[in-house]
Parts: sequence; structure tokens; C-alpha cells
Amino acid sequence: MNLNDAIQECWSKIDEGQVATYIPALAKVDPYQLGVYLFDVTNDKKAEAGASQVRFAIESVSKVITLLYAIERLGLSAVEEQVGTRQTGFPFDTILNMEITKETHPLNAFINSGAILISSLIEEQDGLSPFDQILEFSRKICNDPAITLNEEIYQSELRTGDMNRSLAYYLKAKEVLTNDVTLSLDTYFKQCSMMVTCQSLANLGAVLANDGIAPWNNERIISSEAATYTKSVMMTTGLYNESGTYSVRIGVPTKSGVGGGLVSASPNHYGIGIFSPALDHAGNSVAGLALLELISKKLKLDVFRY
Ligand code: GLN
Repeated sequence: MNLNDAIQECWSKIDEGQVATYIPALAKVDPYQLGVYLFDVTNDKKAEAGASQVRFAIESVSKVITLLYAIERLGLSAVEEQVGTRQTGFPFDTILNMEITKETHPLNAFINSGAILISSLIEEQDGLSPFDQILEFSRKICNDPAITLNEEIYQSELRTGDMNRSLAYYLKAKEVLTNDVTLSLDTYFKQCSMMVTCQSLANLGAVLANDGIAPWNNERIISSEAATYTKSVMMTTGLYNESGTYSVRIGVPTKSGVGGGLVSASPNHYGIGIFSPALDHAGNSVAGLALLELISKKLKLDVFRY
């Protein structure tokens, strides 16, 4: 398929969305950008188009990386004791679901409360802070040594992060988050402020698609179990309260971020990274999802159909 044509076809969708404004540094991003990078893991082929090499804030896509890292460090059962695998039906920063459902733990790892809890589980090791370990692991699993923290976005997250603080303190009050709450929040704000490209996300998707093995050097980076678990959670909760809608429309495990990024892992086929910063009401990239839907249809990637 011609990726430039696909971008042309989805371009007008940008007008249906808006860049995230609740984090001021993200509000400055030019909405008129759309890029894609495809990593075909079976044939070891790559293709890219549009803004595929533009750096943008990873935001919630980082939750995939910290989930994988926590599973590698602590084991899957330890992580499963901390977060569920259920949809919330509420926005990503919801504070109410544990109150309403009387749950003792966040419903899944991709809402902010679950992600902050996961980040809190990563403890200092060999003199490396939790964030230093996440950064190192991100560079490895995205095969991108140029990933760095964007100080302006980090400061902006800090200034506007009161909802996340309230989630973390709620978890602390409920004795669910038991490590240092300030450090856990700082780790979370920093992980959201890492700068990636469509190519970095396609590489991450490719590792997941390839059962945990990096297709660029055949090194196993995560266990098969971690890759399978994470793809399932992406499929069911990766696009927040719109996850069900897109499971039906796209049928590929995908995780979004309010920086406009999408990572997809089409099992045994493709790792896909997409970037377009204008978001829908749920915080997912509008043109990005339109492009992903088109690619999924053209390349027959829907896991329920093919
Ligand atoms: N940093 C953002 C937040 O905590 C990430 C949210 C997202 O990408 N959905 O609100």
C-alpha cells in the first residue's frame, strides 16, 4: 500500500480534533502533522511516510513500557496483584472508579491511577533511579538511543499534574501505593515527558508483535508471557473508554497518548508507530486512528477477522 496516499486520505480528519491543552507545552504543538512507520517483522521490511521522524511527547504510550518493565522486574503475578484488566467506561484520569466499584486496586494499568501505581513499583537499583531505569529500558525496547526527557514538557506536567497527584494520594490513603508517593509521581511525570518518533514506537510494537524478541537483532527483550499479557491489555483498555469501539473497527492491540502517538502490535505481522497530535474527546489521535484503521483494512491486520 502507498503510505503517502493513505496520509492524504486521512489528513482532513485532523480538523475533527484538537491538541491537548490541559498540559500547556502540548498545546503549542502544530496539529497539522501526520506520520507513520511500519515495521514488517515477518519480512524484516520497513516503510514510513509523513511526520515519521518528528519527535513528540510519548505521554500515555509510556505506560506500555513501564508495564513491561515492571513485569520483567517483579514478575507478572506481582503486577497482576496491583492492577486489574478491566475497562472502566470512564476517562483516563478518572478518580471515581475505585470509589464506585469498591475495588481495592485500579481497574487497569493504562488509566492514570493504574499507571502511577505500576511506576511506584519500580525501585532504585544499582544507583539508578526508577526513571533512569525506565529511560534506559525505553531506549532499548524502542531501539532509539536518542530518547530523552523534554524538560519543558516535564515542567508543564508538574505544574498541571494535580489530578495525578490526587490519584496517587488516594492510592496512598487506601494503602495501595506503599512506596514514596512523591518519587512515584515524579517518575510518572518524567516517563510521560520522553520524546519519541513513529519509528521508536514501531520498534516497540515490533517487539510486542514478535513475541518479545527484537526483530533487529533477535535478542529477547521481554518474556513471551509479558508480550501476550500486554497486547491483550492494549486491545481491551489501550484507547481508554473508546477501547471497545476501536477493537471492533481496527482489531489491532493499540495504545494511545495525548501527545498524539499510537503504538500498535499486529501479532506476528507488524509493529506500527503513528503520530498526529489532534485528539478526539477521549484523548486519542483522530487522524492517527483513521490512518490505523485504513492500514489495518488494507493489510488485513484485524486479529478477529484474519
Ligand atoms: N501525562 C498525561 C496525564 O497524566 C498522560 C495522559 C495520556 O496520555 N492519556 O494526564
